[in-house]
Parts: sequence; C-alpha cells; structure tokens
Amino acid sequence: MGGMKWFLLLAATALLCSWLGVPQHALGQSVGPDRPLKVLIIDGNNPYHDWQATTPLLKKILEDSGRFEVDVATLPMEQLPPGEAMRELTSGAPGARAGSPQTAGFRPTFSDYDVVVSNYVGPRWPAETEADFVAFVARGGGFVCVHAADNAFPDWTEYNQITGVGGWYGRNEAWGPHVYYVDGELVRDTAPGSGGHHGPQHEYQVRIRDREHPITRGLPELWMHAKDELYDSLRGPAERLHVLATAYSAPEQQGTGHHEPVLMTIDYGRGRVFHTVLGHADYSMKCVGFITTLLRGTEWAATGDVTIPVPDDFPTADQSSSVK
Ligand code: ZN
Repeated sequence: MGGMKWFLLLAATALLCSWLGVPQHALGQSVGPDRPLKVLIIDGNNPYHDWQATTPLLKKILEDSGRFEVDVATLPMEQLPPGEAMRELTSGAPGARAGSPQTAGFRPTFSDYDVVVSNYVGPRWPAETEADFVAFVARGGGFVCVHAADNAFPDWTEYNQITGVGGWYGRNEAWGPHVYYVDGELVRDTAPGSGGHHGPQHEYQVRIRDREHPITRGLPELWMHAKDELYDSLRGPAERLHVLATAYSAPEQQGTGHHEPVLMTIDYGRGRVFHTVLGHADYSMKCVGFITTLLRGTEWAATGDVTIPVPDDFPTADQSSSVK
C-alpha cells in the first residue's frame, strides 16, 4: 500500500478504537519514548484540599518530565462545602447514587488517554460516565489515584476495587480489611473500626517494600518525605493490591503504630492502577520523592514499564528534598 493508504488505515483504526473505548496503547500503538503519553487529570471538587493549586502543579510535574501530554477535565459544578453537604452526597444517601445532578454533563472521552489521574472528591458521576471509566480501566487503561482521591465514592463498588483501599465518608470494616505491615509481613486486619485517619502533618520516612518493581527500582530503601499527612486505617476490598512502600504511623503523631501503605499498585481487569496516598498540599507535592514516584507510577500505569530515571537530588534516609 502507498503511504497515503497506510495513513488512512491508521487514522481509521484510531477512530475505531476511540469509538470502541479501547485505550490508545492497547491496540499496539507505540508507547515508547518517541510518543508522549496522554494523561487526563480529573478535578472540580475536593473538600479540605486546594485542588485549584495542586492540579496545575500535577500538570506541570508531568509535562516537565517530557514524557506526558496533559489535559484537565474539571467537573462543571458548584463547590460543595466540606462537612455535611459532602457527607450526604458520598455516604450512601440517595444523592450519592450515580447520576448526581451536580455532575450532569460530565463525560470526558477516557479512551483518548493512556492514563487518567484523579484529584477529585465529590458527588458521583453520570451513570454512563462511570461505566465508561470502569470499561476504560478494565480494558487496559491506566489510573493514578492521588491522596484524597481515595476518599471519593465510598458507595461505588468498582471504584473501591480500582483504588484498593480508601478512607472516610462512612468507610469501616464492611468495606474490607485495614492493610498494613508488621515485622515485615503484610497484614489484612478485618477487626471492626472506621476507615481513614491521619494525625498532624509532619515529615516522615518512606520505606520501600518492593525494590524490584519498575516504579521503585533504583530508589533508596528509606527516604524522608516532605511535610504531608500520613494516612492510616484505609480500608477496601484490597484485591490484587500490591504494597510498594509504607510509612510508620507513629503513636506520638496520633498514628496506629503500624507501617501503613503509602504507595500501592492494583490490577483491575487488564488495567494498571498506581495509588499514592502522598500529596496533601503543594508543599508535599514538591518533594522530589513525591515527584519521582508520581512520574514513574503514571508511566507504569500507562505502559507497564518505567523509563523515567531517579534524579540525583532524591531524598536520603534522613534528609527530605524539595523543588522550589
Ligand atoms: Zn489531605
């Protein structure tokens, strides 16, 4: 075939894939370093978090690596105040079902992207949008859950399977085990208790538990994370969940005394999920450890491999390191 015929065939294939909802990379298109990976960040509501500041920072971190092209889909909705209004919309009340009026009209084309990054906590999406999202991940799309995005959607079963574990908005033992490390062993604790808690923000040491995984390969076993919340007692189905790194939740910081997961992967269908609980605020996200693991986790979720190197200014065991 001549060049033009090939071009038309490729264009028609891309169109068909988009129409079928198949992620761009799942059809054998090149995802090597020659093609930027396409990222969609979702935001529009996130109580207790300055998402208007952190989404541009996430976008800049991803784009500055040269590996990603980033679009942002902001839900067209009025901001919900923290507290009871959010609770009502997220705790299983009738308003919490798919198709919440606040999110009407939100329907990004997930299949145009290699990976979706969530910075969103708020009302449920339209039913067809939720179905699109689950199909996107199940068919091999990547998903990255950043910090409070694991608070979202307690009553959306598939979302809880995709994130593995989450916190707040009524979560308890009925959602699944509290997963943590004791003496180097992973524990799935089914004892009753609420899901999701953190003490005061502080710098804390991250311990890599799997140094062979593409995301964590080459990282020091211990590194000091910049000031951040340290989530504990997250709960969820935790199926096909793999803990990459933990941090010690110290009782003197109102913690559990357990090594709580902070970096995880989850397999959902053919999709890959990277879940980081790090990143409460812009200063937390400026940690070189956050940046490096976000970049590598996003690349891995999109492609299954990692080419992004560990920078020279990566934090050490007792010294955090942040960009300006
Ligand atoms: Zn937070």
